[in-house]
Formats: sequence, C-alpha cells, structure tokens
Amino acid sequence: MNYEIKKQILDKIQEYSRIILFRHVRNDGDCVGATKGLKEIIRLTWPEKEVYVIDAETAKYLEFMGPEDEELPDEMYAEALGIVLDTASESRISNKKYTLCREVIKIDHHIPLEHYGSIEWVEEERSSCCEMVVDFYNTFRDVLKINSEAATHLYTGMVTDSGRFKYSGVTGDTLRNAAILLDVGVDTDLLYARLYLEAYEYLKFKAHIYERMQITENGVAYIYIDRAMQEEFGLSLEQASACIGNLDSIRGCISWIAFIESGDEAGTIRVRLRSRFVHINSIAEKYRGGGHACASGATVYNREEVDALLADADALVKEYKETHEGWL
Ligand code: AMP
Repeated sequence: MNYEIKKQILDKIQEYSRIILFRHVRNDGDCVGATKGLKEIIRLTWPEKEVYVIDAETAKYLEFMGPEDEELPDEMYAEALGIVLDTASESRISNKKYTLCREVIKIDHHIPLEHYGSIEWVEEERSSCCEMVVDFYNTFRDVLKINSEAATHLYTGMVTDSGRFKYSGVTGDTLRNAAILLDVGVDTDLLYARLYLEAYEYLKFKAHIYERMQITENGVAYIYIDRAMQEEFGLSLEQASACIGNLDSIRGCISWIAFIESGDEAGTIRVRLRSRFVHINSIAEKYRGGGHACASGATVYNREEVDALLADADALVKEYKETHEGWL
C-alpha cells in the first residue's frame, strides 16, 4: 500500500546527509518508538549520515528508551530533511524548529486534521505509527538495516498504542509487522516489566479513582482529577493522566473520560477520551482536540466546559445505544 509515497520518502532520506526527526508534545510510546526506531534504522543503513531526534521532553515512564540528542544550532536545521512522526497537526509538533528544515515529511496514523509537509504519508487505519515504520522497513528491506535496538523501540510503540494488541485497529498486518520485530529480537519480558509494573503507591491512587469515578445516565464513565488529588498521592501530571486506563473495563460504559487539572496559569484541564464501538473523536474535536476514532485528547478550561463535554459525550453514547445492537 502507498508504495509510491514510501519510495519518495526513501529517496529523500537517501538524498540528505542530515535528517532530523520530530514528534508530538506529551510524548507517548508510539512517537518516541517511531522516532528512535527510524533513527536507528537510518543510522545502521547509512552510518555516514547525521540523524537526530530533538525534543526537550521525554515522558518519565519512557526514560528507559534512552536520552534524546542535544539541541542543534539553527543553521544545522536549514540543511536538513525533517521527518515528523505520529503528529496530526503542526501545533502538536514538540520541537517548533521543524519549520527551519529545508523540507518536511509527515508520517502519521491519526485522522488528518490538517496538511503539512511536502510529502505526507498518512494511513489512519494503522494501529500505530511504529507499525508504519516497520512497514517502511519491510518494503525496502533489501536496502534498510535493522537491529534489536530499533526493533525494541518500534515494538514498544506498537504495544503501547494498540493496548497490547487489543484495540480494534489491530489487523493481520499489525501482527505480521510485530512478528518481523520479534524475529529481529525483542526482550518482551523486560519490556512488559518496564511498561506495566505499578508502584504500590499507585495502586492506592487506583483505589481512590474507583471510589471517586462516576457514570453519566447513559454510560460514560468519568473521573475528575484535581491538583489536590495529585498532591495527596504525590503524582506527576503524567502519572495522574494514566488513570484513563483504569476506567476501560466497565460493562455498559462504552465511553470513558478522564479530566486532569494541569495546574498551569491558564487553568488547562487535560481531557483523555476513550471508547469502544462508538466513535468519540468528534467530541474531542469540538473541545480543541482530536486523535483517533476511539482514543482522543482535548483541552478544556473550566467546570462548565467539563459538564458540557460530558453532556455531549452522554448524548453521543445514548444515540449510539439506541441505534445499535451488540455493544456491551
Ligand atoms: P491522549 O489521551 O493524550 O493519549 O490522546 C489520545 C490520542 O489523541 C493520541 O493519539 C494523541 O496524539 C491524540 N490527541 C491528543 N490530544 C490531541 C489534540 N489536542 N489534538 C489532536 N490530537 C490529539
């Protein structure tokens, strides 16, 4: 699929001697894995090329994936090819210096909200951007080289963005691409331990979430996490935000939402929206966000907006339940 676009990207990588990789703000396993995995593939294949991942932030739970490259002087961007991975819109690119690159390529699996870059390779049905990078590797495997470090980065993104190969975006191709990585060599025991072991204190927080969560009339499970709760349990914003995963298995709740106060001056409240069967991205898009059909993010600024978003989600779920069968 999309052979011509992939070939154009390969040609561009071959043409440039310096390549800088970019990803989205609030990084996750997929954007970190895709940038680091592609970097390693390029480095192995063309040792003479310079290739960098420049991003000031790394999510704490992903620090095991290794440090980022040092910031570069502006003039080094001007000669470079920029490749932005896993990022639907320009406002979400974490390193704004991508605009300095001579050319920019977009590789993404989100619902496209806007166009940027001279070459865009977007496959929104892919379960992760890492899967696209593996597909890229596999398409040109006569040219490209891979090792177990790259395979582990890419597998990390595939695992985290697909909920351990559980979400509906997972296809036969997903598993075939994952199999390529396992054949190269991934220590899955170590990886799963790094990703999923929980601290005892976090379990206490989980218990608190289950105490405090609520369910709307038609079955939207939600939790509001204010600053006080984060302080009480000594949680970073990132750790508090992970609570969305704890609301996903309630029978009858086909959508679940977490609101997390960020504590900044603007009063930003991060919203994480998830669903099964019903598509929730239209709600995210209404509240300054976007993402995937069943996993989106948004931003609100006060309790009125929280209530309005919940009412919209509840109405969406109501309508879905009234017009569909087979949901659980
Ligand atoms: P999150 O809950 O932040 O993990 O977001 C779920 C998905 O939606 C991820 O793929 C994000 O990249 C995407 N997403 C989150 N926030 C936004 C936003 N404001 N605009 C567009 N996409 C978003």
